[in-house]
Amino acid sequence: MKCPFCRFEETKVIDTRLSESYVIRRRRECLQCERRFTTYEKIEESPVKVIKKDGTRVPFDRDRITAGLSKACYKRPISQAQIEEIVAAVEAEIYETFEREVPSRYIGEKVFNMLREVDQVAFVRFASVYREFKDVNDFVEELEPMLRDYSPKP
Ligand SMILES: [Zn+2]
Repeated sequence: MKCPFCRFEETKVIDTRLSESYVIRRRRECLQCERRFTTYEKIEESPVKVIKKDGTRVPFDRDRITAGLSKACYKRPISQAQIEEIVAAVEAEIYETFEREVPSRYIGEKVFNMLREVDQVAFVRFASVYREFKDVNDFVEELEPMLRDYSPKP
């Protein structure tokens, strides 16, 4: 990304926002003249890749997380709006923190922490049934040790 003022080729990203679906707004600063400018990047798929436990990368997909959460919150007093809110907050944080790749573990921890704040029972339920939908949410794999502590003891 070239600086539009001095054409220097190295800039640093100082802020990132997802302004609408898959349009990323970044504030950049030239490493030479230190002037700041904004770029908008439109991309076909999610700009952030999730690094799975086995090292493979998949595009970040908010629908998968929403699906997993809906399942966890089945019959719990958590509205679809609250679920959307959790996912949106996690997504925003990912785009602000990571430019290209995010470890699946990070996503899992964020989701679980937020869910735990909203509804302790839904959290425990998620912890006890997560194996059933592991294929839906591979980020859950990362959390096995953490979840084990929360699973109801037989
Ligand atoms: Zn410059």
